[in-house]
Amino acid sequence: MFLRGRIIMSMPDYLENITKAVKFIKEADYILVGAGAGLSASGGLNYGDSKLFKEWFPKLSELGINTIAEAISLYWSADDLNRRNFWAYWSNHINKIRYEVPALKPYLYLFEVLKSKNHFIITTNVDGQFIKAGFNKEKIFAPQGDYGLFQCEKPCCYELFHNRIFIDKMISNMNNDEFAVQEDDIPHCPKCGSYMTKNLRVDNTFVEAPHMKNQNDYIDFVNNSMNGKLVLIELGVGFNTPVIIRWPFERITSRHPNAVLIRINMDYPEVPQEISSKSLCISNNILKVINDIKTKKI
Ligand SMILES: [Zn+2]
Repeated sequence: MFLRGRIIMSMPDYLENITKAVKFIKEADYILVGAGAGLSASGGLNYGDSKLFKEWFPKLSELGINTIAEAISLYWSADDLNRRNFWAYWSNHINKIRYEVPALKPYLYLFEVLKSKNHFIITTNVDGQFIKAGFNKEKIFAPQGDYGLFQCEKPCCYELFHNRIFIDKMISNMNNDEFAVQEDDIPHCPKCGSYMTKNLRVDNTFVEAPHMKNQNDYIDFVNNSMNGKLVLIELGVGFNTPVIIRWPFERITSRHPNAVLIRINMDYPEVPQEISSKSLCISNNILKVINDIKTKKI
């Protein structure tokens, strides 16, 4: 009885929030989307999911590793002793996430909601999901990197290299019993001959220049929005790197004369007191929320 009572109590609040969100989006001149890991997780790409890990990496599961998050930590960096295993993990990780996984529902639904609206996206995700779902890459600022690209490990240059050919080669020739790629398949920089590595912002060797060209467009979008109604939709952004989306979104909301922040977050939906009157906090499952917004027909 208690449970039933709670559900009935909470429904009007949720539906009211969805109705408000739909109205804000409908009336917006500018929509700025900020997406974190929670968005992909709500579509099934959850780095803490042990069932998914067992299905994708049965060999590592046998060795006692339980999640993608654990494996990332174990294979964080390469050295001369572990390099063949390092690439066995990362070639498969990238292949699954960047190439095999199709566009996920939360991204497809979001595209339906936003395709006819003036929008821009900033994301810390590196899985390429926005592009798979149909969003224009010119409208995406992804400053943390891209699973589909490699760079020189040094780096000797600011060039990025599409990695699918390297990934396919490593996987097709790898020794599954050893969980190791062939030495000859380990990718080398075509410019200087050093090893290549993932293009992810893990330290100061990250090649960021090709990604940062969209930063100016992001800044312009925010500045231009000052003359109209701006809606910021923040999806699954926690506190791993709050300096990239979460805190700037709060600042933009605070300073903007006509902005609303829609923060959709299962774990951290709260906003600072100063912007609470300009915010809508929704702590339900992101996939459900986007689907409900979409179904309301923007
Ligand atoms: Zn190089």
